[in-house]
Amino acid sequence: MINIEEQTTTNTVIFLGAGISYVAGVPIQSEILKTICNNKEIFYSNNGNIFIKFLKDNFGLNENCDNLPTIEEIYFFLDFFISQNENLNSKYPVEKLKNIWNIFTQLICSVIETEVYVGNKADNAYNKFWQKLVELNHKISIITTNYDSCFFESFDNLYSQNYLLNYNIDFANYYDEYMRDINSFFWWDKAEEGVNNTKIIDVYKLHGSLEWLYCSNCNKVMHLPFFHANYNLENGELKQPLIFNEKGESIQRIATCPVDKCKYQILIVPPTYNKNFNNSILKDLYFKALRKLRMAKNIIFIGYSFPDADYHIKALFNRVNMSKKM
Ligand SMILES: [Zn+2]
Repeated sequence: MINIEEQTTTNTVIFLGAGISYVAGVPIQSEILKTICNNKEIFYSNNGNIFIKFLKDNFGLNENCDNLPTIEEIYFFLDFFISQNENLNSKYPVEKLKNIWNIFTQLICSVIETEVYVGNKADNAYNKFWQKLVELNHKISIITTNYDSCFFESFDNLYSQNYLLNYNIDFANYYDEYMRDINSFFWWDKAEEGVNNTKIIDVYKLHGSLEWLYCSNCNKVMHLPFFHANYNLENGELKQPLIFNEKGESIQRIATCPVDKCKYQILIVPPTYNKNFNNSILKDLYFKALRKLRMAKNIIFIGYSFPDADYHIKALFNRVNMSKKM
């Protein structure tokens, strides 16, 4: 059977990298560590303190924090001991290194949150860009390695024109048992292939998203648009969005899966050479994106420069016959 979509529409894939988020205020990687040092709330938090001490002990970080290593170097160092299951020394046994790995990832999330959500500086530009994209009248798909959601939050105008984003994940949002007590603000419509399927824009967030709360017990992701990672930097616990009790009072608890009460974590892949694609949801997205790239007539790169740590993205394009693309 011939796929109608492949027959009648021009498939165009837009590949978005860090550059598209930078204009909204998301710091580039080399700025993230500086921000951890400069943001007092983060720097003086319990977790910020543990992380900075680790850098002083192992990377010779000075008091002014002006000799910072790169993010990749820090992850590479941590990943080495964790993957070998070896202690660094008596002060840094492997369990502590795993904890520092998690803390580092939480701090990166927190930096992006505090820097961006002061206000999305690119909202106008994004709105115009979305409008231009749909005027192409192609079947548009977006693949991105960004885990912030600045660009996708500007989609609202198209939503009112009957366009829907399809993140290609079987979100927990589609199941009653997960959504019972969640504020209706966070409900998310399933993008069904309809009569006019050009109205659905497929999105593949290959490195996860700050809006995705993951339960490893259910292997399910709850998509919370406009929410974002909100970590308590004293104890590393993720806070959930407000919920309302029977009396209508708002409560903010630790983010736990409504079905099994396991603690949620944000599903992102940090900038490490040791990209962990054991997560079946992200692995599935990767191969769905590969199929999209193979079907695409045009591939447009915006703000992406194939950083060294993204060898899995290089592999993705090696699997696509790029000579036939425009
Ligand atoms: Zn669960």
